[in-house]
Amino acid sequence: MTARVTGKKILTGALAAVLSLTMTQAIAKGADQSTVNLQHVVDQAYTKYKDFKEGKNADYIPILATVPSDLFGVVIVTRDGKIYAKGDVDYKFSIQSVSKPFTASLVMQQQGPEAVAEKIGVEPTGMPFNSKVALELLEARSVNPSVNAGAIAAVSMVQAKSEKDRWKQVLQNLNDYAGSDLKLMDEVYDSEYSTSWSNRAIANLLYNYGRLYSEPEEALRVYTRQCSVGVSAKDLGIMGATLANEGVNPITNKRVLAAEHVPELLAVMAMTGFYDESGIWQYTSGLPAKTGVGGGIVTVVPGKFAIAAFSPRLNEAGNSIRAMKAIRYIAGELGVGLYGANPE
Ligand code: GLN
Repeated sequence: MTARVTGKKILTGALAAVLSLTMTQAIAKGADQSTVNLQHVVDQAYTKYKDFKEGKNADYIPILATVPSDLFGVVIVTRDGKIYAKGDVDYKFSIQSVSKPFTASLVMQQQGPEAVAEKIGVEPTGMPFNSKVALELLEARSVNPSVNAGAIAAVSMVQAKSEKDRWKQVLQNLNDYAGSDLKLMDEVYDSEYSTSWSNRAIANLLYNYGRLYSEPEEALRVYTRQCSVGVSAKDLGIMGATLANEGVNPITNKRVLAAEHVPELLAVMAMTGFYDESGIWQYTSGLPAKTGVGGGIVTVVPGKFAIAAFSPRLNEAGNSIRAMKAIRYIAGELGVGLYGANPE
């Protein structure tokens, strides 16, 4: 009896060892996340950083300073629509610049990726997201879809009959990515539009250089509305999972972007998604991602899943420090960097 129990124990021990080895190998190769407990790694990232307090809310858009700074949510959404979440993942905050690649996607869908490369640009600026210096220095002017200039240009390129129609299409596209009806946060819009002097300058400079394709104030208004759309970390996860799923929303099964254009969009995110920190982000995570001054970040592991996180405190570049750390941790634990596993 004792011997049998012991034998069973040994067998169980051996089995566990083999299983854990298989799991480690799967993680190391990033080969098959279905064998890995994604909820566990989300929980770990949350616990590891839940008391992290570095950075501060954006305040150049006055209302963003009033968002509770301690909010923190982490989520993985797989390409088949499974959701693994921890923390404040349903809290609605303004999407801000996380919206930018999704509107660039709409432009690609309407006019093809060449139009984005030619009429906006796809080079990293190495400069802050609101840089007027980049606009003057670099002949593309708008430079890329992740900085404000390129994002305002992208909004101006949406083929629309009127301002109302332009906004309707931009919002519908974000809704299609999220698989739900997102709402404009009016108080965020009012706060940003009434203080939009820098972005107004950018829109006018672009127009001056022939790099804006609608009336500047219209582009500015629609761009500001786009940035004021309320999303949760979960919404961002689903938006990213749509890109991980080659352009098809895994919840609604609606195709939002042609599969053949997804690589170009992800390349833009990889090279420019963190502005003047895009290099170090790519160096340490090996994944395409986009940040916003509302505190959201979405990261795409192509063909597999999205990792999204939300935490309002930002660093100097305007990127959420805690969201960045949590995502970086998960990517490292799962070994999913595109250039090879790069654990922390
Ligand atoms: N709406 C913000 C702006 O134009 C977006 C900036 C950001 O999220 N980095 O300044």
